[in-house]
Amino acid sequence: MTEASRSGELFARARDVLPGGVSSPVRAFGAVGGVPRFIVRGSGARIWDVDGREYLDLVMSWGPLLHGHAHPTIVSAVLEATQGGTSFGAPTEVEVKLGMAIQRLFPSMQRLRFVNSGTEATLSVLRLARAHTGRDVVVKFAGCYHGHVDALLVKAGSGALTHGQPTSKGIPSEVAETTRVLPYNDLVSLQKLFSEEGEQIAAVIVEPVAGNMGVVAGQPEFVALLRRLTESAGSLLVFDEVITGLRLGPGGAQEMFGIRPDLTILGKIVGGGLPAAVFGGSESIMALLSPEGPVYQAGTLSGNPLAMSAGLASVELAAFSDYAYLTRLATVLGDGLIELGRRYDVPITVNRCRSMLSCFFTPGPVNDLESAQRSDTSRYARFFHAMLDSGVYLPPSQFETWMLSFAHQDSDLELILMAADRAFTDVASGSAG
Ligand SMILES: *Cc1c(COP(=O)(O)O)cnc(C)c1O
Repeated sequence: MTEASRSGELFARARDVLPGGVSSPVRAFGAVGGVPRFIVRGSGARIWDVDGREYLDLVMSWGPLLHGHAHPTIVSAVLEATQGGTSFGAPTEVEVKLGMAIQRLFPSMQRLRFVNSGTEATLSVLRLARAHTGRDVVVKFAGCYHGHVDALLVKAGSGALTHGQPTSKGIPSEVAETTRVLPYNDLVSLQKLFSEEGEQIAAVIVEPVAGNMGVVAGQPEFVALLRRLTESAGSLLVFDEVITGLRLGPGGAQEMFGIRPDLTILGKIVGGGLPAAVFGGSESIMALLSPEGPVYQAGTLSGNPLAMSAGLASVELAAFSDYAYLTRLATVLGDGLIELGRRYDVPITVNRCRSMLSCFFTPGPVNDLESAQRSDTSRYARFFHAMLDSGVYLPPSQFETWMLSFAHQDSDLELILMAADRAFTDVASGSAG
């Protein structure tokens, strides 16, 4: 795709309006180079760009579209809600219905509050956890992403156990100093931190299966240790299930691990493709939230009928979906990639947890950020562009999850693997450079 394409023209114009030409950074293709595709339409597992090219989509809006693009049930729910008025700033029945549907699937969420994005949910949860415990310190894990909340835009440097270093400019050092960053899946550093500072820790926030350094599943003993240590220190355990909730299964990672967190954040799929997220936990913790309690949290468009209607349709469809189907698709895809890597002698590591999957260009194993970062990102970029040229739209970054949906068919996987066969030829032949 050249600068002369419609996408190229639009991207040039976009850069005169939007920093980097985009409304969210990774869309700019910075990590892989080239011109981002401007998308005009999506249906099922496919999207079309302004130049009329068709792609099989493995980004799926980064996760919300579990049921595919423009699912008829979700579309008609949104249309119907739109015709009745898009927002009232007053309570509506659909919020209650969606809330009850979520409660049924996530028993740990006895009370919940709707917000407009995962970021908003995270920042509200941290405030709530700090109010509940009367403590300030928050623990996160390197490679986990929890939205662009100041206190959590902190990543591990080499001195991971000491005070955090902001990875974004513009974050007050006082805020960063309340954050501790530990390596993911590392039991020893976790135990050490809790024995040293346990009584200052308000909350530990974690993606129980990480999806933002590529897919890295939390090991069961790591997740279990999180639960034990937080419980005995009086800290809250927060599961960020913005990706995993309703994706690993209807009850998310907490159902898969059989672990009940104190607070849970859901997003993406709960909005069915519209802006919505939700956080929740026990009745007593959530009672601290305004108007019942002293922790302020509010939103003009929170729980608006459009997002709630799309979310309700999405969650109700999910509750009756065959998740084994999605896992099977991911297994076929993952096994196919492993086989191609072997055939073309390209060292890869396919990490898969149920339907969440990513392909790292490193011999692996990949179980934390450090090992994920051993990936050859220039190989990924070459692979990405070869796939794109063959009509497969992968995440424009090595460190993202490939998203399948119930709209993907076995025949789509065959096309994806045929494209991957050509892409591996490219990657293998380019490996001298
Ligand atoms: C996407 C994501 C977020 C942030 O959600 P936004 O709606 O983009 O603010 C938070 N946590 C995780 C695990 C995510 O994948």
